Amino acid sequence: MSMRSESLLKINAHKKDSKFLTNVKDKPISEYFGKLVFGPDKIKKYIMREAYESLMHSIETGEKIDDKTADFVAVGMRNWAMDNGATHFSHWFQPLTGKTAEKHDAFFKLDGNGNVIESFTGEELIKQETDGSSFPTGGLRGTSQARGYTIWDPSSYAFLMESSYGKTLCIPAIFISYTGESLDLKTPLLKSIYALDMAATDVCKYFNTNIKKVTPTLGWEQEYFIIDEALFNARPDLVLCGRTLFGNASARGQQLEDHYFASIPERVQDFMHDFEDDCLMMGIPIRTRHNEVAPTQFECAPIFETVNIAADHNQLLMEIIDKIAKRHGLRALMHEKPYAGINGSGKHNNWSLATDTGKNLLNPGANPENNLQFLTFFVNVIKSIHSHGDLLRASIATVGNEHRLGANEAPPAIISVYTGEFLAKILDDFKNGTKTENTNLGTLDINLNKIATITKDDTDRNRTSPFPFTGNRFEFRAVGSSVNVSNPMTVLNTMMADQLKQFKADVDELIETGVSIEGSITKVLQRYIVESENVIFNGNNYSEDWVQEAESRGLNNIKSTPEALEVFLRQESQDLFIENGVFTESELIARYNVSIEEYIKKIEIESLLIEEISNTQIIPNVVQFQNVLIGNVQNLMQIGMENEANVIRPTITRISNHLSNMMSNIGAMRIAREESHTLLKESDIAKAFNSQVKPYFDKIRKDADSLEMMVDDQHWPLPKYRELLFLN
Ligand code: ADP
Ligand code: MG
Repeated sequence: MSMRSESLLKINAHKKDSKFLTNVKDKPISEYFGKLVFGPDKIKKYIMREAYESLMHSIETGEKIDDKTADFVAVGMRNWAMDNGATHFSHWFQPLTGKTAEKHDAFFKLDGNGNVIESFTGEELIKQETDGSSFPTGGLRGTSQARGYTIWDPSSYAFLMESSYGKTLCIPAIFISYTGESLDLKTPLLKSIYALDMAATDVCKYFNTNIKKVTPTLGWEQEYFIIDEALFNARPDLVLCGRTLFGNASARGQQLEDHYFASIPERVQDFMHDFEDDCLMMGIPIRTRHNEVAPTQFECAPIFETVNIAADHNQLLMEIIDKIAKRHGLRALMHEKPYAGINGSGKHNNWSLATDTGKNLLNPGANPENNLQFLTFFVNVIKSIHSHGDLLRASIATVGNEHRLGANEAPPAIISVYTGEFLAKILDDFKNGTKTENTNLGTLDINLNKIATITKDDTDRNRTSPFPFTGNRFEFRAVGSSVNVSNPMTVLNTMMADQLKQFKADVDELIETGVSIEGSITKVLQRYIVESENVIFNGNNYSEDWVQEAESRGLNNIKSTPEALEVFLRQESQDLFIENGVFTESELIARYNVSIEEYIKKIEIESLLIEEISNTQIIPNVVQFQNVLIGNVQNLMQIGMENEANVIRPTITRISNHLSNMMSNIGAMRIAREESHTLLKESDIAKAFNSQVKPYFDKIRKDADSLEMMVDDQHWPLPKYRELLFLN
């Protein structure tokens, strides 16, 4: 029996392994939220007051934690962890792979006399050495200088990671090289948050001198697909690449539009309850769940948090989803485009700015003076997207997202901002300094102090925009579902920090010439609106017309990943990151190198697998079936039914044609791959992979998918789309 038929038999035979350590079924969430997190209430209980206060002060201000405090914190943390059943501890960090990494050590030690003791020191809490030359570094470290350090990040609470057999204390950390360069995704994110805080707080001073701190907030919406484990295992492409490299469209796909918000299948709902319980215990404020547009596609979203915490939580969520799905005999596909021809998955990043006085700076609000404040931040976001749109595009450039941008229901690779008609009108009037009658929306008085309150509902939804304003935040929709959000958020924060610094300088310059603060702000904003109007687009981003129009507006449409990534190397990008203290030149180049290498490796893996599946699964099975047809023709001929035999012959020929196309394309793809590898520069290899190797993927698939429709179902080796998408 083939693996495929076996998997089909197994699909209904799954037993759920429910060896949970902490069972919270049927309890109210408030009883167990954050149960596995060493948060303020537990810190208070387990750490002496003085150390507690010193720690909290450091968390708030970012000041360095002294050794004595660290020792106290370590003891308290260990006691709490051990009280809750933990035996090991680990720094938990986010290397450039985009995944998370851990290295566990046990609390136990041997004292000089051979006795076993449990211990965990402040030094161990603060710093772990990782001999991690195996992490991608983009050339920042040779294996000879392999030493790297993970350093405790107190801004994110420690937590317990649970498996069915035990618990580990995980300590969020950053990862840097021996010489202090960042080797992870979190360090630059924290730096960008700092830069943005400084710049935004400065600008806030025009409006409210009580504001001492501004933090970017993030609420991500995570989309993913669910598939039965047995079917998953029978698809080598899903196992190795996370996406299907072959597969003819199912007769029924998403055209009935009956999946979005439909009732969630029970098996999936069980899985959701289960992973959400884990998330909630780990302090991830997960709140929303629903079916997405494509069959077997789902989404979940938490309540928003500070960007770095939200980023940690999204990484944790992806790990938890993966782990719990396996417990339920399922697999979660985080890939941006697991299936051709139906929607891909994104991770919408809802982003805004919050003050320490509790205000959302992108909330249009009811208060007149806040409206100028709102317009200031709103217009500056638009201006920064206008100035650095290509960089924002680069921040989401990955192999997986390349399939999605511009495809089925995904925002295009052209970066534009959706403001909604109402705000577009407000900007227009503000720019002209005019009062305008608006019959639909009531009179808009554009004198700064009297702008109508804009309620959330006034901004319509635009699912097609890569960067729409959604009432009190922007929603960066073009981010891929599988990525660590730190990179796009680092770029966005830095762009915004830089823009606000520029704004401050422009306004101050006018103030110095004697113009009032309000007048200066107005003048500068009016100029910004004129300068950045080009990037506002409130129409349908999915239309062909927009591609044309964007071109005439001078907006770039960078389709390929290698090209998009090159934006990071532009002088103006380097200046931006260096001046805002987010990356050094070598860090930026290293990151570019890592991304390019990842691109090459992933395309290479897909190419090799296409070859392997074709040669070892598809072609042999097709030939077998073709032999059946040939036998049939021979038999018919033998009994003198020549006409009937002639009916079959064309099918044999068509099969041969498809096989011959496949084989010659596979050969040509191999040559293209080998030729690409002879290029000297990695960037050129990546580009050649994109333009010379990748086009064969579709060509080979086209013939294979046609064969899938011709060959006896029994002879087809891979589970079909209708099985992948509708059996659950
Ligand atoms: P929709 O599917 O309608 O876009 P969801 O409710 O699924 O919206 O997700 C909206 C996300 O936006 C949630 O994570 C929510 O917490 C987040 N959000 C709301 N306000 C803000 C804000 N000020 N800053 C950042 N994220 C926000
Ligand atoms: Mg959304």
